[in-house]
Amino acid sequence: MVEDQNLVNVKCPMCETTLVTVERDQEVRGPFQHKCAKCKRFWRVDYTRKVVTHVKGKLDKTPIKKWVLDLKSGDSTPHIQ
Ligand SMILES: [Zn+2]
Repeated sequence: MVEDQNLVNVKCPMCETTLVTVERDQEVRGPFQHKCAKCKRFWRVDYTRKVVTHVKGKLDKTPIKKWVLDLKSGDSTPHIQ
C-alpha cells in the first residue's frame, strides 16, 4: 500500500498536466517517453539526469526545449545553459 504523500506527479512543463506518477524516494532510472494527455506534446523524461526534453508536438509553440525536473515536486524549471 502506497500512501498518497509518497507519490509525485511529474507534470508537463508547458501545461502542468500530470504526465506520470512516481513514488517519492523510489529509484526511478533511465529515460522514458511520455505524451501529455492535454497538449499532446511528447516529452523525454530522464529520471537519472533529471532532465525533461521536448520530443515533438506543437514545435512552434514550445520555446523551451529542455527543463530541469524536480523529483520532489514533479515540477520542471527551464534549463539554463
Ligand atoms: Zn502538456
